[in-house]
Amino acid sequence: MARITLDHIRHAYGLRPSNPNDYALKEVHHEWTDGGAYALLGPSGCGKTTLLNIISGLVQPSEGRILFDGRDVTHLPTEARNIAQVFQFPVVYDTMTVFDNLAFPLRNRGVAEAEVKRRVTDILEMTGLSDRAGRKARGLTADQKQKISLGRGLVRSDVNAILFDEPLTVIDPHMKWVLRSQLKRLHRQSGFTMVYVTHDQTEALTFADKVVVMYDGEIVQIGTPAELFERPSHTFVGYFIGSPGMNVMAAAIEGSRAVIGSEAIELGFAPKIPAGAKSELGIRPEFLRLSREGMAVTVDKVEDIGRQKIVRATFSGRPIAVIVKEDGEIPAEPRLSFDPAGINIYADSWRVSGEAR
Ligand code: ATP
Repeated sequence: MARITLDHIRHAYGLRPSNPNDYALKEVHHEWTDGGAYALLGPSGCGKTTLLNIISGLVQPSEGRILFDGRDVTHLPTEARNIAQVFQFPVVYDTMTVFDNLAFPLRNRGVAEAEVKRRVTDILEMTGLSDRAGRKARGLTADQKQKISLGRGLVRSDVNAILFDEPLTVIDPHMKWVLRSQLKRLHRQSGFTMVYVTHDQTEALTFADKVVVMYDGEIVQIGTPAELFERPSHTFVGYFIGSPGMNVMAAAIEGSRAVIGSEAIELGFAPKIPAGAKSELGIRPEFLRLSREGMAVTVDKVEDIGRQKIVRATFSGRPIAVIVKEDGEIPAEPRLSFDPAGINIYADSWRVSGEAR
């Protein structure tokens, strides 16, 4: 298991990059803890796979270094990095049995047969493939084959890290849930450093201790699921995480008040907005309240989604989403109030610290 240091890494696929937009990966400078479970989360094209491939050695970064436990591995090929990888589509040997497929990475490294049997039996159980151990992989479904790929990634005990690139894409929804929980448990038991690429927030939030949110070639926040929810560092994190995402509204900051259209909201602190920066107020639908007191609001639509209702409304001329708990009431002529604990202020899309309030 290793600590992974990403030391001022940048990557451009084209030659001679001349401006920041030429980089598929803008500067990444972070240290990931030994034994951590990280998810790289972001929309298509934001650079997740590029970063994962830099860690695995499939891509050499244009600039910067990558270190495992302080050792520079930037120029080492994948085979010399001692990592396990699980890709989006299954990679299995069709003519081998399920057992032999799983045993392959161990036998290849000369692991004693008794240990091979012990570890493969554990993995067969974990993936629900025990009853197919002696069958050739050829006849299996795509979903079962992907479980073999996952199992092969998990079977070794001596790897620096296990890298997963959207590994559950071909797995059916119920099994997805099962495997995700098993991966999380396995991570706790084994202490492997795991890096998991996905564009699915549920997958990222359930699997990872730390979610690395990427947007347009940049890491915009690394945080626990609670941090991403409560204090999104960037408006993109606010939109992307949560369902519906955070409400973000243009707001003029006047001392300790945010003015949205004709309404003023008391913040309890005075955010410092750099001159000329675009200022916005962000609040998640969970921190808005409809009652008989507060500011004017018009309800446009109520979506009942079982445990809660999503109210689509118009506030000061802007669309806004409010979450009302299952047993919560929506008054006939509701007014809107903001829970100050849920307010975040942004300058040019980045959160302005307001911890001192
Ligand atoms: P996805 O979820 O679609 O795989 P991603 O977040 O993993 O997306 P990357 O595949 O890392 O994103 O791509 C980041 C950017 O780099 C994209 O603009 C992509 O078009 C570009 N890119 C990726 N691979 C190459 C390549 N081999 N040559 C040139 N450009 C590339």
